[in-house]
Amino acid sequence: MNMPYLDHAATTPVDARVIERMLSLLGADGIFGNPSSLHRYGRQASAVVEQARAQVARALGADPREIILTSGATESNNLAILGLLANKPRAHVVTSAIEHHAVLDVCAHWQQQGGAVTYVPPNADGQVEAEAIARAIQPETGLVSVMHANNETGVINPIAEIGEVCRARGVAFHVDAAQSFGKLALDMKTLAVDLLSISAHKFYGPKGIGALYVRRRAGLDLQPRVHGGGQERGLRSGTLATHQIAGMGLAAEIALAERESDHARIAALRDQLWDGIAAIGGVTRNGNARACLPGHLNVCVDGVKAHLLLPALARIAVSSGSACTAGATAPSHVLTAMGLSVDAAHRSLRFSLGRTTTASDITEAIGVFAEAVQRLRA
Ligand SMILES: *Cc1c(COP(=O)(O)O)cnc(C)c1O
Repeated sequence: MNMPYLDHAATTPVDARVIERMLSLLGADGIFGNPSSLHRYGRQASAVVEQARAQVARALGADPREIILTSGATESNNLAILGLLANKPRAHVVTSAIEHHAVLDVCAHWQQQGGAVTYVPPNADGQVEAEAIARAIQPETGLVSVMHANNETGVINPIAEIGEVCRARGVAFHVDAAQSFGKLALDMKTLAVDLLSISAHKFYGPKGIGALYVRRRAGLDLQPRVHGGGQERGLRSGTLATHQIAGMGLAAEIALAERESDHARIAALRDQLWDGIAAIGGVTRNGNARACLPGHLNVCVDGVKAHLLLPALARIAVSSGSACTAGATAPSHVLTAMGLSVDAAHRSLRFSLGRTTTASDITEAIGVFAEAVQRLRA
């Protein structure tokens, strides 16, 4: 890439090894059978799907039977939340105020259906505390849903602790792990998490494919949201997208093998970026820097609105607020929930680094950012 791409939290470029794997499956000489068909072509495709399912399961320390393939984290979140509540009319849900819209809007829909939802605010560091979740749980609570790492700030929530709270209170626990899968260790053998959503395009796989982990023997009464051919144990009907699924499987295997070395390298580049940006003066960092994904840097800039800064930063592809609400004038719901003023939220923006980020990208980003901030402040 000739220009720095610092928006990996919105989506990642597909890894070349993943592209090669997907291409090998397409075409008349590929594996084009319907994985549900019983003939030779179908069985070949089904073997590819099951290999990928096992790769995703291994990255989670899960059983392959616990992986339900979906179109991405949005669908996984909908299946987890609405599927679990289907037979619990008006059950109470506990979630956080800093969730992605793929959880917040599902919860708003649940409220429209007559259900109750508590939105727990984070602390000033952007973290959702286990004690705050414990206080919000009521006898009527049917589900707790808290994201692992936030897409805007990169701040990591204590899902192990929150899971223990939920397990002790007998409440199912869903985690949106779209940002953390492939970057942080996730072991379903030790985490008290019942449902967990992932999306391949956040870990160098293709768009339009994801999965929901569903714990076996947890007595979860999960109901499908999509009805039809009965694929995925009846939980998600529809013909399986063999090449997309194989791409996600390989991306998960690569993430498992390279996660730790990527983490160290990317965090070092991110720290270098922060040092360079902080040197400009009048810039503060949003969120807990010690409990943060390696590639995230969310900053608040004195005296300059992000919507004026972004065009000047077009060369380095950064984001103000979350990608899903960019373009809208509303301030980030994540930053305001942390206690930032509306004005401070409008002066904040997100850099997110990834596997393809180089040291020269960082040097260029610091230069472009410093020049733009100084010019707009003048
Ligand atoms: C990207 C993202 C999603 C949505 O994933 P899709 O693949 O677009 O469905 C959900 N939650 C979080 C935290 C995300 O970062």
